[in-house]
Amino acid sequence: MEQTLIILKPDAVERGLMGRILSRFEQMGLKIVAAKLMKTPRSLAEKHYPGNREVWLRGMGEKTLENYKKFGEDPIKLLGTNDTHEIGMMIQKWLVDYIVSGPVLAFVVEGPHAVELTRKICGNTLPFLASPGSIRGDLAYDSSYLANSGKRAIKNLVHASGSIEEAKYEIPLWFDSSEIFEYERAEEKVMQ
Ligand code: GDP
Ligand code: MG
Repeated sequence: MEQTLIILKPDAVERGLMGRILSRFEQMGLKIVAAKLMKTPRSLAEKHYPGNREVWLRGMGEKTLENYKKFGEDPIKLLGTNDTHEIGMMIQKWLVDYIVSGPVLAFVVEGPHAVELTRKICGNTLPFLASPGSIRGDLAYDSSYLANSGKRAIKNLVHASGSIEEAKYEIPLWFDSSEIFEYERAEEKVMQ
């Protein structure tokens, strides 16, 4: 049994896609155990996207450089640098600006393999590479090229914890334990 954090980012809320996205998780049988619509305080956004964690920053930078290489783009021309730390810092700022830009719907789902199943329903980080059928593949088309040239985060509708460890770090940032509920879903008896 796992729990994972999902956040419908401001583009999902502003496009009126909350119900449609939420129902994907309910449909699969994952149990929604916490949920709230909220404006993200900048201090929370900065913990969620930790600009002081070198490993996270360099990881973001490396992923971006890999994408650029794949598509034959020059990072220096587009971003002014090819240093993983500097690119990580740049994206971290865009991410914080994005998530505080409007209300978000934060929720926690619970179920067997919840982390991996959730990542699968969300699809690839880059919507233009996300498979049809996934939330990002069906409902968005953004790419790192478009986002980086607009000096903004990729608009991909949804955040989902990337691993069990990430979920354990993120859930308490967004929810107090008193906001997370235990209950039984009717189909548990049939599905397990
Ligand atoms: P996720 O776990 O699939 O959301 O992806 P990551 O943890 O790698 O990245 C966090 C968020 O940063 C993504 O959801 C995107 O909104 C944004 N992002 C990731 N890579 C890039 C990039 O190369 N350029 C820009 N502008 N944004 C990015
Ligand atoms: Mg991530």
